[in-house]
Amino acid sequence: MGVVGIEHVTVVVIGAGHAGLTASHFLSAASVDHIVLERGEVANSWRRERWDSLRLLTPNWLSRLPGHHYDGPDPDGYMTADEVAEFIARFAAASRADVRTGTNVTSVRPVDGGYRVTTSHGELSCRAVVIASGACNQPTVPQFADALPASIEQLTPFDYRGPSTLPDGGVLVVGASATGVQLADEIRRSGRAVTLSVGEHVRLPRTYRGRDVLWWMDASGVWDQRHDEVDDLTRARRLPSPQLVGTAQRRTLDLNALTAIGVETVGRWATLRDGRALFSGGLRNVFSLADLKLGRLLDTFDEWARTYGCDGEVDPPGRLEPTRAPSSPRLQLDLRSGEIRTIVWATGFRPEYGWLDVPVVDAKGQLRHDGGVVDSPGLYALGLPMMRRRKSTFIHGIEDDAREVIDHLTRYLAERRPS
Ligand SMILES: Cc1cc2nc3c(=O)[nH]c(=O)nc-3n(C[C@H](O)[C@H](O)[C@H](O)COP(=O)(O)OP(=O)(O)OC[C@H]3O[C@@H](n4cnc5c(N)ncnc54)[C@H](O)[C@@H]3O)c2cc1C
Repeated sequence: MGVVGIEHVTVVVIGAGHAGLTASHFLSAASVDHIVLERGEVANSWRRERWDSLRLLTPNWLSRLPGHHYDGPDPDGYMTADEVAEFIARFAAASRADVRTGTNVTSVRPVDGGYRVTTSHGELSCRAVVIASGACNQPTVPQFADALPASIEQLTPFDYRGPSTLPDGGVLVVGASATGVQLADEIRRSGRAVTLSVGEHVRLPRTYRGRDVLWWMDASGVWDQRHDEVDDLTRARRLPSPQLVGTAQRRTLDLNALTAIGVETVGRWATLRDGRALFSGGLRNVFSLADLKLGRLLDTFDEWARTYGCDGEVDPPGRLEPTRAPSSPRLQLDLRSGEIRTIVWATGFRPEYGWLDVPVVDAKGQLRHDGGVVDSPGLYALGLPMMRRRKSTFIHGIEDDAREVIDHLTRYLAERRPS
């Protein structure tokens, strides 16, 4: 029996990014009544949480959602954040998703074999919930950031818009994954001195044997590798994003490209002592490891091309020059000296589940789940790193995951039909 004043719906989906909207698509296909709750607008993260120059690192032809794909004039180009928001909004309209925008979910708790969802606009009860609230709600910043000298301006990728908004002076970019290398490149090109602190990273050329490197990831099936097939899932889920940028010239943006324009590389920022940033040694080893992994990946592509007989359709194999390590990288930097005026934290992102009143979040703030089936009956997730496949967090990766997760959900509903 429903409680007076509380709206009932069978499934609540939280978040109207591409993941929540794809969940809605499959729920509609299965005729399951549901609603999508979104605190901002459709595709909110692309409208509010990206810097000005950002373009997808995935090419347009790869941007596909169920029944919806890029059909513009530049399939090999890379969308701007505004274009991605448009792309997702068109998908929402075409799939007639029932989205309630401007509705912040402040609590989800288990009640009577289902869930009670409290929002900024009232309460709902439901039998199942799909958490599609994103894996990148907050930038990750190390704790010692609080102890930095006040003279240093600190920015995260959520605050950063472009180099013109930075104070004059040197910039330390921390982190050399997709975000870090893109921001280091853009800031260096604006004329500023840039130091880049580099930890474990994934090096990729933009093109390989004449094709976008992500064509190889897609065609060879590397991206389809499943969560239950990898040896170390925890590690696979923590893998940083690849050093890639989407430009018309299909430019490779690895560390060699950055040092060639004058970016100085230093090791991983280990700690802060007496106003000095202390960096790990062994930069050469970090570079060698990334080069080794890249070599192995390219070997996989070459082998796939040989096996599937497409060697003749692509350019001959080749290897990149090893990453050039500085002869004696600096191990510390005095942050009180005035050399560095700005620090940009490109140290990753994390999800935010403060509203989830179900004990399914581990000590590291990650959801406990098995391929998106969360550790509480009727609770599901989408869009998490390597959730069911290597491609899970990418736009084109959601369709396969969402189909399987919603299939599980509909079976769960059928097996627990209320009497
Ligand atoms: C900088 C960056 C660049 C990326 N580049 C690419 C790329 O090139 N290609 C690619 O395929 N992928 C890329 N990704 C990965 C991925 O496509 C994005 O992270 C994408 O936004 C994830 O979609 P999502 O639907 O899972 O989450 P989101 O897009 O984050 O959507 C979640 C939605 O949930 C809403 N929400 C959150 N909490 C609540 C709440 N409590 N109540 C109500 N609503 C809530 C948010 O407002 C948001 O709209 C990139 C990610 C980042 C961070």
